[in-house]
Formats: sequence, C-alpha cells, structure tokens
Amino acid sequence: MSGATGANGARRKPIVAGNWKMNYGPTEGREFAESILGDLIAIPQVESVLCPPAITLTAVHAVTDGAVKLGAQNMYFEARGAYTGEISPTMLQGLCTYVILGHSERRGYFGETDELVNRKAKAAFEYGLRPIVCVGERLEDRDANLTERFITTQVKGSLGGLPAERLSELVVAYEPIWAIGTGRAATAQDAADVVSLIRAQLAELYGAEVVAGVRVQYGGSVTSANIAEFAANPAIDGALVGGASLTPDFVAIVQCVAEVKG
Ligand code: PEP
Repeated sequence: MSGATGANGARRKPIVAGNWKMNYGPTEGREFAESILGDLIAIPQVESVLCPPAITLTAVHAVTDGAVKLGAQNMYFEARGAYTGEISPTMLQGLCTYVILGHSERRGYFGETDELVNRKAKAAFEYGLRPIVCVGERLEDRDANLTERFITTQVKGSLGGLPAERLSELVVAYEPIWAIGTGRAATAQDAADVVSLIRAQLAELYGAEVVAGVRVQYGGSVTSANIAEFAANPAIDGALVGGASLTPDFVAIVQCVAEVKG
C-alpha cells in the first residue's frame, strides 16, 4: 500500500475527497459519478471519496454501490427530531462512509463554531461515520503571524474528546480559507508546516502513537497541475478538492497521488 507510515508501522492510505459543494442534483450527479467511476476503481492505492449534496447521495450511491466511498458535506449531531432542514447521522448510515464537518463555508456562512463541530464529530463516531474535519486560518490571521494560534484553537476546540481507540478513522483537512476557491494554493511547505502543527496538537490530546494513524489532507485550489507537490510531501496524506472535483480533473488528481505516493 502507498502512503506514509502511521501507528505500529501501518501505512496511512492516501485519501482524496471531492467536495461537490452545492453542485450537481441527482441526475447530473449520477451521470458524472458514472463517467469517472471506472477510472477511480482502477486506482485502488488511493481512497477516493465523492461528497455530493445530500439530495444527490442516494442517486450516486446507486451507481457507486460501495466501489467508491461517499461522504456527506455536513450533518447535525442529533439522530432525529424537530430540526427543520437538517440531515442526521442515522440518515447517512449505509450511504456514506465519511462526513465533512466544519468546512470553512459552514463556519463562515452558517456560523458553525468549534463547539458545534466537536459535537458533530462525536456524533459521527457514535453513529459509525468517519469525520473529515476541516480547519484553516484566514488571510489576516496568516499575515498577522497568528496561524499557529488560530489552528491550535480550532484543533483543540473541534477535535477534543473523540474516542482515542478509533482515531485512525479521523481525517483532518487543513484548508487555509484564503486558498479555497481562489486559485491561490498554499505552498506544499507551508501546508506541511501546518499539518505538522495539527499533528502536534492532536498528539497533545491523544498521544503521538495514536495520532500517527490519523490522515491529514491539504485542501485549497488543488488541481492536477499542483497536486504532485503536495503529494510528494510525506506529511500530507492526500487532498480535499472542491472545484476540480466537479470535472474529470478529479481522476487526474487521484492518479497523480497514486503515482507520487506509490
Ligand atoms: C473545498 O471546498 O474544500 C476546496 C478546497 O475548494 P477548492 O478546491 O475549490 O479550493
């Protein structure tokens, strides 16, 4: 298996997730998934994850049928009840392996706090879903040399109190907000520095041995043109891809990760 070494010498399998955001309804989503499915299955060295909108999950699941894993883009932490418009963890069971939590668009547009993201992450584990938890600083934080403080606060606030024995199911996405959808990716070195910081903070919470099995992705304007430099860095276990995941470039990204990490 390709990838960096984790706990007990086990390899961390590279993971590339495509966040479709609010794009592709059921028909378009099914057609697009069908068009890339065979190519993704042919790259088993990398775990590919498609994250369509909630309303599209069932249609894409009918096509992928477990051959490529799916993720939701969000969920609420309660299992059921009077929460109009929300999706519960139990509704995702059987459809999704992963759920993206705390994406900066959720934090920024919908007021999600570290505390809420943490409750959702705990619920994901409780209901057998694997959280992909996003953290990342704003440009003003980076310019003011506050990246470390900002990331530390987010990691401690969003990722505390999780079941340590299942931490290898956790994925963390380092997504600097200024790099998302802007065409201005971080440098691989800057990304790797923050990924190392995230690991160090997690190690304070859970111990270094447990944390060695956690995968940490980079996200922010990743395309097939720049993925190689991120994949070449052993600290970075893959990518969370937005815009480029809506096109066949997603397959090229997965292929490149397989080649570079192979
Ligand atoms: C994202 O939405 O998580 C993301 C990284 O978007 P983009 O790749 O378009 O920057």
